[in-house]
Amino acid sequence: KLHNQVQELKGNIRVFARVRPALPHEATRDDLATLTFSDEKLDKEMGCSQLSVINRGESATGKEREQVNDFTFDKVFQPSAGQQEVFEEISTFAQSVLDGYNVCIFAYGQTGSGKSWTMEGGLDEANVGMIPRAIEMIFRVSGQLKDRGWKYHMEGQYLEVYNEVINDLLGTGQFDTKKHEIKLDKDGKMSVSDVVSVPLSNARQVATLLERARSRRAVAATLMNERSSRSHSVFTLKVRGVNPSTSEQCEAMLNLVDLAGSERLASSGAGENKDRLKETININKSLSALADVIGALGQGQQGGHVPYRNSTLTRLLQTSLSGSSKTLMMCNISPLQAHVGETLCSLRFATKVN
Ligand code: ADP
Repeated sequence: KLHNQVQELKGNIRVFARVRPALPHEATRDDLATLTFSDEKLDKEMGCSQLSVINRGESATGKEREQVNDFTFDKVFQPSAGQQEVFEEISTFAQSVLDGYNVCIFAYGQTGSGKSWTMEGGLDEANVGMIPRAIEMIFRVSGQLKDRGWKYHMEGQYLEVYNEVINDLLGTGQFDTKKHEIKLDKDGKMSVSDVVSVPLSNARQVATLLERARSRRAVAATLMNERSSRSHSVFTLKVRGVNPSTSEQCEAMLNLVDLAGSERLASSGAGENKDRLKETININKSLSALADVIGALGQGQQGGHVPYRNSTLTRLLQTSLSGSSKTLMMCNISPLQAHVGETLCSLRFATKVN
């Protein structure tokens, strides 16, 4: 009961922060010692945590100073948190797609902060990310619901939004050439034209889809990481359930979104390059459009204006980002002193949508 009350009070939006561990080649850097994160449970029942970024950098005058910045999140993951621990916190949220809720889970943060790790994860089983874990759990739970008469049909889609244009990561044929239009039908349901939707009959098939997307991206760009850090990728599981014994039906989507790197122009060294500038403008535009949409939803503007039309990403996710849908933003941050400026920007962005 308490759980339900808390759910109601908190509404349908959750914001988490995840600090990635230092990588082996970073471990020797001096700057690791100067930045620390402390998290403190603020409210046990509500499950809020405070993340403090403690920066012991030197001031311009060479004096030591300590600067503490506090942020409040629904949940904070320290570097030691593994994929399973993170998944346990999002699993109930993701599972509600089987009850007919549309769900969006976003990974936000600068390039290198652990977004892809969070979403797709490593290749070995212990390190797989939220996409394969969520799908595995949904198949497992839908199997249990069979006993109560439910039959589910699932399909997977994997799209990329690059420079406001949609590409199909599971498609065939050349990248960047096919025009995919977002269409809204009269029931307010969104669909994208000419994209591949793969029927899924078991969770293991997801690994094949992720691999297909990976190799397709690799063909599309010589610098694969560069491209994927400049684009949003949206994995969508479409779920349709029918229960012939009770005549109930439900239809919903789970979207797992790895957002483009949030870093500001100067730090990506993008100054001189026109293409880079265009990419950056498009990324900024879509990330702020996303914050505006989530912000409007958070304020529960019944019948009020939700500004979906300001970016391809928010138009694409329109059906899944509305009244009763559930949204989770994972703010990924780097543990390095060198990134503290971007880290603070990311945390500020994430608390803005909360
Ligand atoms: P992004 O997608 O934000 O650009 P990545 O997910 O590629 O960042 O992460 C950057 C690097 O850090 C990768 O080498 C990744 O494997 C590693 N990494 C990120 N988060 C973790 C983590 N929680 N545990 C271990 N390695 C991680």
